[in-house]
Amino acid sequence: MSGDDLIRAAVARSASVAEVMIGRGVLAEAGALYARHFAGPAVLMADERGWGAAGPAVEAALTAAGIATRRHVIPARPRPKPTVDLADALRADLRPGETPVAIGSGVMNDVVKHAAYTAGISYICVATAASMDGYTSAGAPLSEKGFKKTIPCRPAKVLLADLDVIAAAPPEMTGWGYGDLAGKVPAGGDWIIADALGIEAIDDVAWPMVQDGLEGWLAQPDRIASGDRDAVEGLFLGLTLVGLAMEAHGSSRPASGADHQIAHLWEMDDLHHHGERVSHGACVAVGAMAALRLFDWLLARDLATFDPARRAAAAPTLAKKVAEIRHRFDDPEIAGRAIVETRAKHVEGAALQARLIRFRQVWPELAARLRARLWTADRMAWHLARAGAPVEAADIGVDPAYLRDTILKARFLRSRYTVLDLLDECGLLEPAAVAAAQGATQARVGT
Ligand SMILES: [Zn+2]
Repeated sequence: MSGDDLIRAAVARSASVAEVMIGRGVLAEAGALYARHFAGPAVLMADERGWGAAGPAVEAALTAAGIATRRHVIPARPRPKPTVDLADALRADLRPGETPVAIGSGVMNDVVKHAAYTAGISYICVATAASMDGYTSAGAPLSEKGFKKTIPCRPAKVLLADLDVIAAAPPEMTGWGYGDLAGKVPAGGDWIIADALGIEAIDDVAWPMVQDGLEGWLAQPDRIASGDRDAVEGLFLGLTLVGLAMEAHGSSRPASGADHQIAHLWEMDDLHHHGERVSHGACVAVGAMAALRLFDWLLARDLATFDPARRAAAAPTLAKKVAEIRHRFDDPEIAGRAIVETRAKHVEGAALQARLIRFRQVWPELAARLRARLWTADRMAWHLARAGAPVEAADIGVDPAYLRDTILKARFLRSRYTVLDLLDECGLLEPAAVAAAQGATQARVGT
């Protein structure tokens, strides 16, 4: 199936997304598209940057179709933050009967998504960059009182993506989208682990939507970086399908694993580099590198002498993990949330021993599945660099100690089982994290 056909099939299955239009020069279709799916006036919501990319053309197309519009444009500097507070402010501005039109990329789409959802209405999104996968996903990753989480919402009912606009976005934004998509490589490995251990089965609808085309979408980083329309179209199709896969699966499991947990911690820390907040996709690119280094490390181990009974007896109890969480998270509210997430996946004693016995039994087959699907960290580094995405932690202002600490605490953030949990349950997380952080330093010195 071509990318277009895959999108059509996914939209037909979607409970919320009614139409996705991707093409060159399609902003002129905004009026007809709106009229097909909405009635009444439109409020165009953007930051100044997104407005500059597509606002006037969308406004003109809607006006030409006889649709009343008004603008709600917020400053682009400092870059708007993806918070529930901003979403609430936009919702408060909505007038009865209006449909929001989000014009922009990650942050604007996420806050309008949340505003529309909590107002009980649908919205249309005009994408201005291939910078992340959230246009068609049902969740909005927003911070609420400092805790970053993916809040269940409804995706845009209609997505309009003009490839001329998207290919002209700042190259670093396309690099972020490439990074967000690259994260699906280790996230697939995480899901394979959870599947093999009987924790969370792979879903044969959502899995192929993300994993079947992934190699192809990531295959041309140079052309993506140079703004080649066809290559950028592939990237955008991939990001759109990933969003639809999350909606189909009912969670972000198809798209997010250890890579995103690591990235979310940096986002929660409000990581800045060179005076700019580091974007989601940039954090995911580096998170994906860290996750792949953990996989590389695990796959290089000889686990023949691994003793499940001995490890289960020595593994930390829930009380010990709670103490570690309180130690690692300064903010008591965030620590409280992390404890809830960790409790949901914690096993100890006989249950842990049973899991580790199963792990040892399935390891040869599991390792083969992982090798067949995963990329090595080196291969990913080569691709990310060519796509113009960050590669090493230093590229986003994270030093090796901060990277290691992030790897060690990321698993507490979500109940989702990943390579971080497997390593932890085997008693191997600490050396793996040290090696992964060292690998990053060595790569830096080597370049
Ligand atoms: Zn993401």
